[in-house]
Amino acid sequence: MIEIPVSLGSRSYPILVGAGAVSAVGPHLAKRGVGRRVVLITDPAISRLHGDPVRRSLAEAGFDVAQADIPEGEQAKRLDVASGLWDRLLDLGCDRSSTVVALGGGAVGDLAGFVAATYMRGMNFVQVPTTLLAQVDASIGGKTAIDHLRGKNLIGAFHQPRMVIVDPQTLTTLPEREFRSGLAEVIKHGIVLDAGYFQDLEASIPALMARDLSTLDRVVAGSCRLKAAVVERDEQEAELRWVLNYGHTVGHALEAATGFQRWAHGEAVSLGMVAEARLAERLGVGTAATTERQRRLLDAVGLPVKGHATDPDVVIDALSRDKKRRDGRVSFVLAPEIGSFRIVPDVPPDTVRQVLEELA
Ligand code: NAD
Repeated sequence: MIEIPVSLGSRSYPILVGAGAVSAVGPHLAKRGVGRRVVLITDPAISRLHGDPVRRSLAEAGFDVAQADIPEGEQAKRLDVASGLWDRLLDLGCDRSSTVVALGGGAVGDLAGFVAATYMRGMNFVQVPTTLLAQVDASIGGKTAIDHLRGKNLIGAFHQPRMVIVDPQTLTTLPEREFRSGLAEVIKHGIVLDAGYFQDLEASIPALMARDLSTLDRVVAGSCRLKAAVVERDEQEAELRWVLNYGHTVGHALEAATGFQRWAHGEAVSLGMVAEARLAERLGVGTAATTERQRRLLDAVGLPVKGHATDPDVVIDALSRDKKRRDGRVSFVLAPEIGSFRIVPDVPPDTVRQVLEELA
C-alpha cells in the first residue's frame, strides 16, 4: 500500500492507496486511536458493490458499526438529509470520539464530511472514496458541503479527515462516463502541476482506459500526491489552491448555463480546459503546441474538446456570477506550458467570448 502523508500540523493525516485497501479500513482506523462507535455513511448501490469488505474489516477490528444509507448522488447533499444523519448519530449515542466513515463518491464524502464537521463541533471522519473524481480530488483537502437552493456547495465547512483510504479496485465497477469524467481532474493535475505526470498519462492511455490495476494504482497515487501537496501549502484556499480551478472557471459556467444537466462535471471541465488553453494563447501566456497536447490527451480518453453549442453570452453571464470571483473580477488559472500555471486577473470578457465562440 502506498502511503501519502498530508502534513497539516495537528490536522495531518495519511492517504493510503492500493488495490484491496477497502479490506484494511478497520485495522488502519484502529491505529488512529478513535472510539469504538463507527457510522458508515453510503448509498445503497455502493453499499451493495463495495460495502461488505469495509463492514467486515471494521467489525473484525473491534468496532461497533452502524450504517446510514443516503440517496444516490447530488440528492444526498441536502439539509434534510444532513439533519436525518444528525438524528441518527444522536440516537446511536455518538460522541466526539466516534467516527463517520464515508464510502462513496464526492457527494457521499461532502455530505458525510459536513455532518462530521458539525456534529458536536466536529467528530472523526474517514474518507473511503469509490469514484475516480473522489479518489483524486474530493476526498483530499477537507472541503465539505451541502447544496443550497441558490447554488451548489454554498453551505459547508473545512474539516480534515483522519485518513483517506483509496482503493483503485473499486473503480472497476464505475460506469464508463463517470470514469472518464474523473480523468478530467487527473489530466488537470498533470497540466498545471507536473509535466512528468502528464507525460506518463500520454504514454498510458490504453492501460488506463482498460482500467489495468497497476496503472490505476500509479496514476491515482500520483494524482493524490499532487493534490495533497497543494492542500499542504494552502489549506484554506487562499491563493495557491486556486491552481486546482484550472478548466473549472469556464467549465463551471458551462454547467451553470445548462442547468447542470447536459454534461458530467468532468466533461464540462474538459471543454473548460480547452477554452482556457486557447485563452492562454490569446493572452500571450501559452502556446498553440501546449493547447494541442492538452486537446489530444483529453480527446484520446474520450472527453469532449469542442462543440459545446451553448450561447457564449449565457456562459459569460454565468462566469460573472462565479462563486470564486473576487471584487467582481474573474481571475483565470492559465498554463504557460505543461506542468506550470499562472494566475491571470481581470481577463477581458470579450477575449473569453471569442474563445467560447471558437469552441462552440
Ligand atoms: P457522485 O458522488 O455523485 O456519485 C455518482 C454516482 O456514482 C452515484 O450514483 C454513486 O452511487 C455511483 N458510484 C460511486 N462509486 C461507484 C462505484 N465504485 N461503482 C459504481 N457506481 C459508483 O459523483 P462524484 O463525481 O464522485 O462526486 C461529485 C460530487 O463531488 C459533487 O457533489 C461535487 O460538488 C463534489 N466535489 C467535492 C470536492 C471537494 O473538494 N469536497 C471536489 C470536487 C467535487
